[in-house]
Amino acid sequence: MAEKTDKLPQNVVGGYYVDSTCVDCDLCRNTAPDFFKRDEETGFSYVYRQPVSSEEGLLAEEAKLGCPTESIGNDGLADSALASGAI
Ligand code: SF4
Repeated sequence: MAEKTDKLPQNVVGGYYVDSTCVDCDLCRNTAPDFFKRDEETGFSYVYRQPVSSEEGLLAEEAKLGCPTESIGNDGLADSALASGAI
């Protein structure tokens, strides 16, 4: 499970983030390239844009669920917004 306290500083502010357990497998960047990018210096992925619609949220969630090291977290803001239909 991703750790909030271990968020990479490259992550944009918002619900989704990547922590330092990322192993650079490329899955999230292939699944949701609009939100995840590779930091070329560290080799870690990070969130460079947060999802802003339910469709985008589903893609980000798919990347989170598929991450083999559970390095992608969501502080719950987007989840609750999706559940309420707000996004
Ligand atoms: S899916 Fe997980 S381990 Fe793979 S690049 Fe993305 S954050 Fe890193």
